[in-house]
Amino acid sequence: MAEKLLPCPFCGASASIERLGDRSRSTIYQCDSCSCSLETGEEWGHGSDWNRRTLPPSIRDFLGKVQGVCMGVAMSGRDHPNTDGALMELFNEAQTILFPSTPTEGGAE
Ligand SMILES: [Zn+2]
Repeated sequence: MAEKLLPCPFCGASASIERLGDRSRSTIYQCDSCSCSLETGEEWGHGSDWNRRTLPPSIRDFLGKVQGVCMGVAMSGRDHPNTDGALMELFNEAQTILFPSTPTEGGAE
C-alpha cells in the first residue's frame, strides 16, 4: 500500500505515482504541475522516497517569509521602510527553527 504523497517540494502542487515499481522496474513520481519528477528503486512502501524530499511545513513557511521580505526589499530598494528590522526578524525566526533550545534575547540566564 502506498503512502499518501506530500505536495511537490518545489511548487507545492499535488503529486502522483506515474509508475509503480517492483523488482524489475523503477518507481516514478511526478508533480501534477511542474516538471519535477523522481525515479527511485522503491519496491515496496511506495511514497516514502517522494515524501522524504518534502520540506517540513515550518521550513516551507519560513522560506515563504524570506521570499516575501526579499521581494519587498527588491521592489522598494533603498526606500524599504524597515529592511534591517525585517531581516532581523527573519534571522531570529531562523534561529528558533534551527536551534529550538537556544535561549532568546532577554531570557533567563
Ligand atoms: Zn511541482
